[in-house]
Amino acid sequence: MPDRPIIVAGAGVGGLSAALALAAAGRYVIVLERAATLAEYGAGLQLGPNATRRLAKWGALDRLKEFATAPEAVDIRDGRDGSTIATVPVGESEKRWGAVYLLAHRADLLTALSETAARNPNIEVRLGCSLEGWHESIDGVVAHIEGRPDLHGAALIGADGLRSRVREGLSLASPDGPRYSGRTAWRTLLPAAATSAALLRPRTSLCLGAGAHLVLYPLRHGSVLNAVAIVEDEWSDLDAADFWSSHGDAAFLSSRFQGWAREIRDIIANAPEWRRWPLYVRRAVDRWTRGRVTVLGDAAHAMAPFLAQGAAQAIEDADALGLAFSAHPGNEAAALGHYQRARAGRANRVQRASFYQGIVYHLSGPAALARNMAMRALGPSGLARASDWIYRE
Ligand SMILES: Cc1cc2nc3c(=O)[nH]c(=O)nc-3n(C[C@H](O)[C@H](O)[C@H](O)COP(=O)(O)OP(=O)(O)OC[C@H]3O[C@@H](n4cnc5c(N)ncnc54)[C@H](O)[C@@H]3O)c2cc1C
Repeated sequence: MPDRPIIVAGAGVGGLSAALALAAAGRYVIVLERAATLAEYGAGLQLGPNATRRLAKWGALDRLKEFATAPEAVDIRDGRDGSTIATVPVGESEKRWGAVYLLAHRADLLTALSETAARNPNIEVRLGCSLEGWHESIDGVVAHIEGRPDLHGAALIGADGLRSRVREGLSLASPDGPRYSGRTAWRTLLPAAATSAALLRPRTSLCLGAGAHLVLYPLRHGSVLNAVAIVEDEWSDLDAADFWSSHGDAAFLSSRFQGWAREIRDIIANAPEWRRWPLYVRRAVDRWTRGRVTVLGDAAHAMAPFLAQGAAQAIEDADALGLAFSAHPGNEAAALGHYQRARAGRANRVQRASFYQGIVYHLSGPAALARNMAMRALGPSGLARASDWIYRE
C-alpha cells in the first residue's frame, strides 16, 4: 500500500517549503490553505543566504531571481541626520556565506514556491480548505476541515502561522498563546517617481532612532521602494496580527518620526498609504512536536523581525523536516522527533537574538551613541563576521 499523505496546514512560505522538502524526501504531500487564492499580500522580505541556499536546493531560486534584487550592502544609518554609521557587505554573500542575499516581495517568493510545487506530482495544494482541528488515530492523523470531509494522513505539519490551530491542539503549555511585542509594523510601497534615485539603488537602508526604526529597499528591479517602519506602540489586536492590512494613520506615524532626517520624513509623507499591524511573538519552547504532529515557522517560533529571519527560519525548518523524513523512512513519529531536536536550539537562539536586536536598534541618548561607536569600530568585516552564525547555516 502506498504511504498515506503528509498533511501540511498552511500554504505560506513555511508550508510550501515544507511541501517541497517532503516531496524531495519521497513523500506525497497535501497542503491545506484556508485562503481561496494565494493572493498578493505582505511586503518585502530580506532573504539571507541561509534561506536562498535551500530555495536553490528545491529548484525555486531561479524563478525568484527573475523578480528579486541582490543588494550591494546594508547601510546602517543614524535616523536623526541620515548619515551612515556602518555598512554590512551583503553583496559578498556568495563568496562569504556560499549563497546569494536577496530582496524580494513576499508575493514573488510565494509565486516561485507555488509554481515549483505545482510542477511536482507529489504535491497537491488545496485552496479554500480551513483546518478546524485534528486528532491522532492509532496509525495516523485525522484533519478536520471546515465544511469538508475529514482527511486522513500519516502526519500533520502545522505551518498555519501565528494563530496556529495545529499548535492549539498540541496543548504544549499554559498559557501558550502569541504575546504582543509592544510594537506595531507599518508598511508601504512607494512608486519610483515618489522617491529619490539614491534610494532605488540596490542597497538596504536601515535607519535607527529612539523607539523606532525604518527599513528601505528597492523591489522589482527598482520600480518601487519598500518601506517598513517599526514603532513602539500601544495598539494590540491579535485578530489583525496576521492580516497585514489595517489602514495606518500617516499623521500618527509622522509624529513618531519628528526630528528625523528630512529624507525619512519625506518618505513618510509621500507614501500613497500606510498599512499598520501589531507585532506578536511566541515564547521560545523546546518542544513543539507530539507523536505524528508538529509545527514550523511562525506557528513554532514567531519572532520579532529585527534580524529579518522569520521566513528564513521557516525555510530552515522545512529543510530539516525533509532531512528527518529521509533519515526515518516509514517512521513519522521518529522523523518528527528528529526534526524537533535538529531545530529547537537554533530557532530559539535566532528568536532570542532578534529580541535583543530590537532593543539595540531602538536605543536613545548616550546608549545610542555607544551603539553607533561600537558599530563603527566593527566596520564591514566585523559586522559580516557577526552575521556568520546566522548565514553560514
Ligand atoms: C514587519 C515584518 C518584516 C519581516 N521581514 C522579514 C524579512 O525581511 N525576512 C524574513 O525572513 N522574515 C521576515 N519577516 C517574518 C516572516 O514574514 C514570517 O516569519 C513568515 O512569513 C512566516 O511564515 P509561515 O509560513 O510560518 O506563516 P505565514 O506566512 O503566516 O503563513 C501561514 C499560512 O497558513 C494559512 N492558514 C492559517 N490558518 C489556517 C488554517 N486553520 N487552515 C489552513 N490554512 C491556514 C494562512 O492563510 C497562511 O497562508 C517579517 C515579519 C514582519 C512582521
